[in-house]
Amino acid sequence: MTKRYSITFWATVFVGAVCLSLIVVDVWRSINARSGQLQEMERLSSNVARAMAQQADDTIKAADTALADIVERLETEGKAPLRLDRVHRQMQAQVANLPQLVGLFVYDEQGRWIVNSREVSGEQTFNNADREYFIYHSAHAERGPHVGDPVISRSSGKWIMPVSRRIDKPDGSFGGVALATLDIDYFRRFYQSFDIGRRGAVALIANSGTLMLRQPYDGNRVGMRMNDTPLFREYIGRSGDARVGSANFASSNDGEMRLNSFRPLEHYPLFVTAALSREEMLERWRRDTFMRSVGVVLLAALMGYFGKRLVGQIKLREQAETELRKARDALESVNRTLERQAMQDGLTGLANRRQFDVTLGNEFSRAMRHETTLAFIMIDVDYFKQYNDVYGHSAGDEVLRAVSKLIRALTPKRPGDLTARYGGEEIGILLPNTDIDGAHAVAERIRRAIEELRMPHSGSSYGFVSISAGVATIAPKRGMHLAPVLVEAADKALYAAKSAGRNRVCLAAQDAPAGTIVG
Ligand code: GH3
Ligand code: MG
Ligand code: MG
Repeated sequence: MTKRYSITFWATVFVGAVCLSLIVVDVWRSINARSGQLQEMERLSSNVARAMAQQADDTIKAADTALADIVERLETEGKAPLRLDRVHRQMQAQVANLPQLVGLFVYDEQGRWIVNSREVSGEQTFNNADREYFIYHSAHAERGPHVGDPVISRSSGKWIMPVSRRIDKPDGSFGGVALATLDIDYFRRFYQSFDIGRRGAVALIANSGTLMLRQPYDGNRVGMRMNDTPLFREYIGRSGDARVGSANFASSNDGEMRLNSFRPLEHYPLFVTAALSREEMLERWRRDTFMRSVGVVLLAALMGYFGKRLVGQIKLREQAETELRKARDALESVNRTLERQAMQDGLTGLANRRQFDVTLGNEFSRAMRHETTLAFIMIDVDYFKQYNDVYGHSAGDEVLRAVSKLIRALTPKRPGDLTARYGGEEIGILLPNTDIDGAHAVAERIRRAIEELRMPHSGSSYGFVSISAGVATIAPKRGMHLAPVLVEAADKALYAAKSAGRNRVCLAAQDAPAGTIVG
């Protein structure tokens, strides 16, 4: 069984569904926007790392190329003063050419300064034999470049990144070091050009774990060991292509949760990381989401409120319609009752005289058209005046009711048949398409039935209530007959029945003009 829901139910469901879908769509959109924002953040940090790695590689490469050139020249041409003078000019030209280059230096196997890019001066008596790169090259025969830990330059006082190569003597033994010092500030200026937000950070770190530079810049942190930080461990733990990647860490520096993208330099044992603050990246998303949510909730609340009012209005209208329908039904029922009452007799429930007259006219015309016979029985209670006198008027009414009930039960109920209270205690029965024999049989049946009731009537010569009936028929011809003729004929037959002693049925002469009486 399917239950039928009201329109208000569906309206409520509709409003609810609209509000809910509004919220669901917004939540879905927010989740999407968040993951979009995180993806964007990853793309941004990875791009920054790529640019940094490229720049660092190029910067070191340029200095290293100059170094390789000097080493090659010294090894092939020797260290004669004239030669050194040429090397000095060459160095000066390189330093002037490369903005990242602070200086170029050559030390002999003892760590003494042989030649450099500065103005040659006898006072320069620094010995760099204690520097990390010097110790490294004296102990290692490799010819490749060596990137050392950042140091504060003895000559300029600035943070520098040393890049060095070993110089061999002709016999292959250690013959000194060629050194290029790169300005850490050069990298810093480049890193400043990136927009990594207020809480982002980038760094250049040696594979050995030494921090070369971090932006935001802190001079005290240059040269710091990073080996124990999760970031460094993560990076060093990876190998090959996996070193290009990203991971989320809480910063060892400030505790900030950041997405770190790292990438190694192509030619040197260093790597860069670009880290963006998750909080900062999501801050905008949070603000947007909050504003939107407030808007959506407000909208949903408004919709809910007006939806509720709308449903209320629909409910009211429905009620009004129901009441209207009820009123209309009541009116219709009253109308029907009135109609029935207008056509019905109140005491007996039979058709009244008015209905009888209308029906008689109709049936008379029909019989004329169809050339059929119309029968009419007129019934009158015998000695009824006396009955009233003896038993009272209301007892008389009871008798009338009983007689009517019986007559109604005994008359045919074909369409067109009509039993009516013709007058005071006279009842007429109209039987279309019925011949005199049929009508006679009906009348006789009624008479006998009432006789058998034996309703006591002391005023009657029979001692019980009886009726007399006159029966007439007519096959009406146009222009010859009028409806009252039939009634008059039946009336005459009734009169005959009364005269003959009552409690009997008399027939009018068939189709005869009124007055012909048959026994
Ligand atoms: P008859 O045998 O010749 O018919 O004698 P009768 O007394 O019946 O005479 P008639 O038919 O002339 O009498 C009509 C009487 O019927 C008059 C009146 O007292 C009575 N009557 C008419 N209508 C009603 C009614 O609605 N209720 C009651 N109780 N009596 C009625
Ligand atoms: Mg009478
Ligand atoms: Mg009578």
